[in-house]
Amino acid sequence: MTGTATGLRIGVYGGTFDPIHLGHIELAESVRDALSLDRMLLVVANQPWQKAGQPVTPAEDRYAMVAAALADRPGLEASRIELDRGGPSYTIDTVRQLREVDPDSEVVVIVGADVAASLDTWHDHEALQELVTLAVVDRPGSPPADPPAGWQFVRVPVRPVDVSSTDLRSRLLAGEPVDDVLPDAVIRCVTERGLYAAER
Ligand code: ATP
Repeated sequence: MTGTATGLRIGVYGGTFDPIHLGHIELAESVRDALSLDRMLLVVANQPWQKAGQPVTPAEDRYAMVAAALADRPGLEASRIELDRGGPSYTIDTVRQLREVDPDSEVVVIVGADVAASLDTWHDHEALQELVTLAVVDRPGSPPADPPAGWQFVRVPVRPVDVSSTDLRSRLLAGEPVDDVLPDAVIRCVTERGLYAAER
């Protein structure tokens, strides 16, 4: 994978981040370092269409948690591009928007192994294939998976952090400790906003 002489190499790591946890942060830092990315955006989904039919915490609350988590992580940026655009969150639209601003940029889309296998269900995936390289990371509990044929990808080794947002929501609801995998700033944000305190 080579960057152009003038273009930045931008990592786009999309997620629902409901809530953001250390698995997400570890992954973002490892991929940024491994691929020498100039920017690493954690892109908060406005309407995560993959989770249609499931209750999801309001986007502004999820964004606030991501911003709080990254405040002391130089080189990781909380992105509200999908919140500001509104509507369903499709990665192809985000990539096109980033490349409008910086046509020479090279965009790397980061996904966990659980997501890699289902990339051909993504909106306008043929167009996305033409525009990006994927960085695929293993995820504890998910079999290592390659993307379907046609995607340019690299696998990036990351320290495994066996956690999911689903697990964290249950732990928060049950009043169980979460400080092993939730940054303090996120715990404060959860308390201040009264999140995950009742069954959704
Ligand atoms: P949920 O449990 O609500 O489905 P999640 O923990 O999977 O949430 P998402 O925000 O949906 O979190 O994940 C965004 C991306 O991060 C996906 O590509 C997913 O594969 C990846 N990811 C999430 N947690 C981990 C982890 N612990 N290790 C590696 N990848 C992860």
